[in-house]
Amino acid sequence: MSLDPALGVQFVAVVGEAWARADAGSCARYGTDALMRGHPADLVLLPETAAEVARIAALCHTHRVPLTVRGAGTGYTGGAVPVRGGILVSMERFNRILEIDEGNQLAVVQANVITGDLQREVEARGLFYPPDPASLKQSALGGNVAENAGGPRAVKYGTTRRYVLALEAVLPTGEIIRTGSKTVKNVVGYDLTQLLVGSEGTLAILTELTLRLVPKPAVQATLSAAFPGIDEAVDAVSRLLAARVVPATIEIIDAVSLGAVEAYLDRPVVPAGTGALVIAEVDGFPGGVEEEITRVASACHAAGATEVRRARDEAEREALWEARRALSFALRALAPRKINHDLVVPRGRVPELFALVAAVRARHDLLIPCFGHAGDGNIHVNLMVDPANDDEMARAHLAEQELFAGVVALEGSISGEHGIGFAKAPYLGLELSPDVMALMARVKAAFDPHGILNPGKMWEVDSRDQEIDPEIRR
Ligand SMILES: Cc1cc2nc3c(=O)[nH]c(=O)nc-3n(C[C@H](O)[C@H](O)[C@H](O)COP(=O)(O)OP(=O)(O)OC[C@H]3O[C@@H](n4cnc5c(N)ncnc54)[C@H](O)[C@@H]3O)c2cc1C
Repeated sequence: MSLDPALGVQFVAVVGEAWARADAGSCARYGTDALMRGHPADLVLLPETAAEVARIAALCHTHRVPLTVRGAGTGYTGGAVPVRGGILVSMERFNRILEIDEGNQLAVVQANVITGDLQREVEARGLFYPPDPASLKQSALGGNVAENAGGPRAVKYGTTRRYVLALEAVLPTGEIIRTGSKTVKNVVGYDLTQLLVGSEGTLAILTELTLRLVPKPAVQATLSAAFPGIDEAVDAVSRLLAARVVPATIEIIDAVSLGAVEAYLDRPVVPAGTGALVIAEVDGFPGGVEEEITRVASACHAAGATEVRRARDEAEREALWEARRALSFALRALAPRKINHDLVVPRGRVPELFALVAAVRARHDLLIPCFGHAGDGNIHVNLMVDPANDDEMARAHLAEQELFAGVVALEGSISGEHGIGFAKAPYLGLELSPDVMALMARVKAAFDPHGILNPGKMWEVDSRDQEIDPEIRR
C-alpha cells in the first residue's frame, strides 16, 4: 500500500520528525530481517513511550493501515517484515533496564534491551537470565518474548516463556494493558501473558517486560567431544539422555558446518578428520558439576569419541562458544542464500531426524549442513542455495516440504524456536488442525478486529505475501 500523505503527517506528528523515516533506503533497510527476504514499509516510526505506540496503533486501527513491529531484526522467518507495507514501528528506543530486584529475583526492562546486555548486568549481581539465543549479542528481549526464543541452555532451563512474569503491551486498537504480576504464582483470569509469548507481533506490541531471574550457577564445566561421524555424535547424546544426565547444554555440529566455521574464524576448531562435534556444558555446585562432567565424558567415550577436550579456563570455554555462535554467519559463505529451518522432534527421535535429512539430501542433491540443540531434539537444518539457480531452488522447495512432512510424522514440529512469520505460514496446516487454526483466527480477531497488526503472518496465508522482493537485503 502507499500511505495517504495527509495521514502520514498525522503519524509523523506522534513521534516528531526526528524519529520518522520515509526515505526509500530506510524503508527498505527496516523492511528485512535475517531471512533476507524483505518488503519496504511506507513509513518507519521510532516511538519512545508506550503512549506514543498506543497513538500509532489507534491511528492504524482507525484508518486500516498495516502495522508491523520490529525488535532487533534478527528473526529468521520474516516476522518483522512489513509484507503489506504501511507503518513499521521500530522499538529500538525502548532500550533501558528499569529495575533489577535482587530480593525478588526479577528484572523489569523496556522491550528492546539487548538480551546479552541484561545477562551481563544480572550476572554482575550473582543472578542469571538463562535464555540464550545464539543471537544474544544482537537480538532484543521483546523479540525473544515475541518468538519464545530458545537457545543452547533450553535443555536444562527451558525457553524464554519460563522467565516471563508480566508484560505491558499496546493492543492494536490502541489500549495499553498490563498482564501478569511480579509474583511467581498468579492464576487470576486467562493467562494472557503466556498467550502473548510467542505471538510473533500479531496480537499486541510489547513495551515492558518483567522477567524472572535465577541464582547464577556457582561453576560451569564445558567439554567438546570430536566424533568420526554424525551417527556416533548422535549416539553420545542418546546415551547422555538415557543416563539421566541433564547438562545445561548439549550442542551438535556436523562436518560441513565445522569446515565452514573454521574457514570463517580462520583457525582450527576440531582435530583434523573430525566428522561431528558435541559441545556439552554442565553447571551448578562444584561437587555435582565434577560428577556430571565426568559422566558426560564417559558417555562420549563410550559412543566412540576420538577426542574429549575439557575447557581449562574461561578463555577456552569462550573460544568454544565463539565457534558455536559463529555458525550461522559462517554458513553464509557456502552459498548465496541459507534457508534455515529449526526442526524439532521428541529428543529420543534425533537419530531419525538425521536419517530424514540424509535421505532428503541424497534425493535432491543439496548441501544441507546441520547443527543445533541436540539435547532438545531441535536441529538447525540449513538448505544452502543459489536463488539464481532455478533448478536448485525447485529442489530445495521439494526438500523443504519433505522435511516438514517428515518431522510432523516423527511427532515433531516445523519450528522449535524461530516461529512461523511469513516464511513458514503456508505449512501451518501440516501441523495444526483446521479447528485449531479457526480458533487462532478468532483469538486474533478479539485482539485485532481489523487485522492491522502484522498482517500476512503465521496462520494468515495470502499468496501476495509470498511474492516478497528477494532483492531487498540488509
Ligand atoms: C545468528 C543468529 C542466531 C540465532 N540463534 C537463535 C537461537 O539460538 N534461538 C532462537 O530462538 N532464535 C535464534 N535466532 C533468531 C532470532 O534471533 C530470534 O527469533 C529473536 O528472538 C528475534 O529477536 P529480534 O529482537 O531480533 O526480533 P525481530 O526479528 O525484530 O522480530 C521477531 C518477531 O517478533 C516481533 N516483535 C519484535 N519485537 C516486538 C515487540 N516489542 N512487541 C511485539 N512483537 C515484537 C516482530 O514483529 C516479529 O514478528 C538467531 C538469529 C540469528 C541471526
